[in-house]
Amino acid sequence: MTHDPNCLFCKIVAGQIPSRKVFEDDDILVFHDINPWAPVHLLLIPKQHIATHADVTPEHAALLGKMMAMVPVLARDAGATNGFRTIINTGRDGGQEVYHLHMHLIGGARPWKQG
Ligand code: AMP
Ligand code: ZN
Repeated sequence: MTHDPNCLFCKIVAGQIPSRKVFEDDDILVFHDINPWAPVHLLLIPKQHIATHADVTPEHAALLGKMMAMVPVLARDAGATNGFRTIINTGRDGGQEVYHLHMHLIGGARPWKQG
């Protein structure tokens, strides 16, 4: 599995930096964003290092599909019962800060007011 020793989220995957984990399997880790924009703010990441959405290729389709498909249950379990936003920021113009692909899952009251 691809791993970048200088990557913040790879360090979270490796347990070198703590996180508030919500879900984990062989492929995917879900944890709470450290600086939430809304009552529910989770980050879904592939465990393998993929820097950005722009680096995704067809070989990642199953992995990304799996991530997308687990969102409804995560949202419901986290209490985002009136809808949510899923956001992937990509690259400089996309406002990406951490260069390990991640999907924001944001819910709760009026999450569109920030971010
Ligand atoms: P982005 O701008 O899409 O790259 O978002 C990066 C997100 O990672 C931001 O919402 C940060 O609050 C979040 N973040 C940064 N460091 C950590 C950390 N150590 N644990 C959890 N979330 C983090
Ligand atoms: Zn990484």
